[in-house]
Amino acid sequence: MDTDTAQVDPYEYTTKVFEKSGAELVIGSVTSLVIDESGSCGGVVLKSGEILKADNTVVATGAWLAQLEDWGIQGLKFPITGIKSTSAVFEAPE
Ligand SMILES: Cc1cc2nc3c(=O)[nH]c(=O)nc-3n(C[C@H](O)[C@H](O)[C@H](O)COP(=O)(O)OP(=O)(O)OC[C@H]3O[C@@H](n4cnc5c(N)ncnc54)[C@H](O)[C@@H]3O)c2cc1C
Repeated sequence: MDTDTAQVDPYEYTTKVFEKSGAELVIGSVTSLVIDESGSCGGVVLKSGEILKADNTVVATGAWLAQLEDWGIQGLKFPITGIKSTSAVFEAPE
């Protein structure tokens, strides 16, 4: 690897962030948000039925964002779709 290129290992990076921050990592599939009477989000519901309460919730589902429309939350619309494509990487001549 040349000297002006850096690479971060995602697993190592996130593991260290969790270790340093003291946060707890919970792995699960989110099926809905917890929405209170005022319409505020108070956490997430996992596929297992477990509810994770939170003061702040960040939805970062990437290309799966449109799935939130199936979570039954009124007014949520994400008009995006994914496409399958092929990419080829070529080594550039020096
Ligand atoms: C083949 C390929 C090559 C790429 N190469 C590059 C590159 O070289 N450089 C570059 O900058 N970008 C590249 N990208 C783009 C890059 O990967 C994305 O832009 C980036 O990962 C988006 O990050 P994100 O955090 O928004 O979403 P993601 O990395 O997609 O993360 C979303 C996460 O949410 C999780 N999730 C979804 N739904 C739920 C749910 N209901 N409950 C719980 N979790 C859920 C998913 O499992 C996933 O882990 C590439 C993408 C692809 C597909």
